[in-house]
Amino acid sequence: MTRTDPSVPADLASIVAAHGKSVAAGDNAAVLADFLPDRIGQLIASADVPTPLRSAEVQSIADVGDGYFDAVIRYTKPDDSWFELRSRWVRDAEGIWRTFSVRNIPDTPPWMDLTGPSADGLDIPHWDALRDGRMLLQRCSACRTWAWSPRPICPTCHEFDMRWEQVEPVGTVYSWTRTWQAFTKESTGHLPYVVVLVELPHAGARRVLGVLADADGVTPTIGSTVRGEIEQPPDDEHWPLVRWHLEGTTS
Ligand SMILES: [Zn+2]
Repeated sequence: MTRTDPSVPADLASIVAAHGKSVAAGDNAAVLADFLPDRIGQLIASADVPTPLRSAEVQSIADVGDGYFDAVIRYTKPDDSWFELRSRWVRDAEGIWRTFSVRNIPDTPPWMDLTGPSADGLDIPHWDALRDGRMLLQRCSACRTWAWSPRPICPTCHEFDMRWEQVEPVGTVYSWTRTWQAFTKESTGHLPYVVVLVELPHAGARRVLGVLADADGVTPTIGSTVRGEIEQPPDDEHWPLVRWHLEGTTS
């Protein structure tokens, strides 16, 4: 059953259906021909598509504004399990429909293995506390200066007595970037994603890096409020991560 927006051009609907069949058939030449030429390099690595596939079914096509249309196609594997990809389509200069963004659903990478203590071990209390659902940052016991990243000596008064204090994971976007490359294997299929540098007013305006959740098509504004949610790892081998949410959004 296809749910299609009445504003969706009929020629796009047939091109999307044919694209799904090409992907399911493993017809790479036909799939590449549907890509907007200047995005081919990004698109080749952008989706995680297991093979073989048995069939493709267009689930929806929606007008998302600015001449863009989002198609969701469900791919079924021989064992009847399935996954969905979202492709974004636009008419190129010659009026031909091309896709310039393909990603797996959900939008946010399900996990990242990059997290965990640094080689010097100075930040181990931070990671241990995340396992307990709390965010700790370093603070000098003498002059009360907050520090991040962790260090053995207070950057202000040079005392050695750096301790750990709990911080509410709420802050503002100091800076951000949208990442188009799969620097980790877990992010394949979930590109692009947005990394935010979050300033923590409850910790002396120290700044921490993290991934913004649900950031597909979202352009953060500098100064927006974000709230961190501590997500526990799938097993004991991995470490928790703090994923940031723009205030007013939930996941
Ligand atoms: Zn100090």
